[in-house]
Amino acid sequence: MLDHLAFETPKPKVIQGAKHDWELVIGMEVHAQVASNAKLFSGASTQFGAEPNSNVSFIDAAMPGMLPVINEFCVEQAVRTGLGLNAQINLVSAFDRKNYFYPDLPQGYQISQLYHPIVGEGEVIVDMGPGVARRVQIERIHLEQDAGKSIHDMDPAMSFVDLNRTGVALMEIVSRPDIRGPEEAAAYVVKMRQLLRYLGTCDGNMQNGNLRADVNVSVCRPGAYEKYQDSQDFSHLGTRCEIKNMNSMRFIQAAIEVEARRQIGILEDGGEVVQETRLYDPDKNETRSMRSKEEAHDYRYFPCPDLLPLEIEQAWVDGIEASLPELPDAKKARFVTEFGITEYDADVLTAEAENAAYFEDVAKGRDGKQAANWVINELFGRLKKEDHDITESPVSTAQLGAILDLIAKGDISGKIAKDLFEIVYTEGGDPAQIVEDRGMKQVTDTGAIEAEVDKIIAENPAQVEKAKQNPKLAGWFVGQVMKATGGKANPAAVNQLVQAKLGL
Ligand code: ADP
Ligand code: MG
Repeated sequence: MLDHLAFETPKPKVIQGAKHDWELVIGMEVHAQVASNAKLFSGASTQFGAEPNSNVSFIDAAMPGMLPVINEFCVEQAVRTGLGLNAQINLVSAFDRKNYFYPDLPQGYQISQLYHPIVGEGEVIVDMGPGVARRVQIERIHLEQDAGKSIHDMDPAMSFVDLNRTGVALMEIVSRPDIRGPEEAAAYVVKMRQLLRYLGTCDGNMQNGNLRADVNVSVCRPGAYEKYQDSQDFSHLGTRCEIKNMNSMRFIQAAIEVEARRQIGILEDGGEVVQETRLYDPDKNETRSMRSKEEAHDYRYFPCPDLLPLEIEQAWVDGIEASLPELPDAKKARFVTEFGITEYDADVLTAEAENAAYFEDVAKGRDGKQAANWVINELFGRLKKEDHDITESPVSTAQLGAILDLIAKGDISGKIAKDLFEIVYTEGGDPAQIVEDRGMKQVTDTGAIEAEVDKIIAENPAQVEKAKQNPKLAGWFVGQVMKATGGKANPAAVNQLVQAKLGL
């Protein structure tokens, strides 16, 4: 099976400074909340929107003497994610303590994986349009606990802490600095979200903060990145700044753009970029320094003494691999070959697994291009008007399939089919029965059409003369007949008759 379609690599984004041209280099750290009902080391619920501090076990609250117990399902989800990114799965991994103080971190440390992550190197193909994609390498995925939430805007004098999120499992997915522009960075997050949703390992809800990204940005002169690639030597690249906690594709792009220009300004003035963590302010469209970049040693990482190294078996990993669904790249390639649709349409149809399943149901045994057209333009278009997604579609795959069958049999024209679709969408019912009951059947009886053609020719002698001079004008007669029959005449039959009667 063809895994992905052949593609070309896009050109890196070039920004013209006052003095030179500059290229962008971007690496992403995506924090994805693991889809799991329970937390990483406790049985407390992960339900979003629960009463503050109601989903907090003694472990999450860091009561003395409590011991964390690893949630096997969260481990399985991380392994599944790694497999979906074609990555190395490490059969032995280990948890470390990352020590820091924060009011919403009762333990005083976060349990994470620095030295031995559960997932090693993998890759993501980031689609940038038909036939164009960027291969982005994944460096690692590690499992870690989320922190709680400090709330500063509920009282003028006090801050509150909600520990519901404390201890929820996160996957930190770290990319290599292989992304070369703002659009690519946004497309990377889109693709990652799509993959995670296909895999069922993260719901990808960015509004709730279940998927957020730290964006690392540096700039370099043309040619420097290629040197880095050949040698994997980071000294060829510029100093990076990290923009924290981005959860909107639009802001990711804007933040990269302004941050790159800020760095170019500094460098062209002869200054140096300081490695630091910055925040993006969408109102002012600027990034601001948050803190100087801390190093691993600032956190005094050490192996968590409460947890044994995590050992998993290859057979267990193989079992998870065997249960993986078909993933977007493979599905897209298959749709193009199996149904003869364009890569663009395949992209749209595979954006969500549910959309793809719907399309496939309709297209099976029918004209794939026509099915794609109807699903994308009519159905998706109609659903979008009401802000519905495919799972809320009032038209089932059987109903849409029946409409396409009526077109294929010549029972209805494409135009009538649209009216029929609207009826099925708003009122429901069996399409064939509706056509029958409401007299929507296309007139293919040539006798009836012929009578109509004769009538219109007889009533319009001047038009007839013109059409004989200029055969293109025959279309006018076809239009008149269609109008007179309420769109129910078979257009091909009408056209043939008009041509014959006019002697063209
Ligand atoms: P940290 O703990 O400092 O965040 P990580 O290893 O978790 O370090 O992540 C570093 C991120 O920064 C990776 O995504 C990596 O690709 C990216 N990165 C490293 N060097 C550069 C650079 N020069 N320009 C842009 N991104 C970079
Ligand atoms: Mg990091």
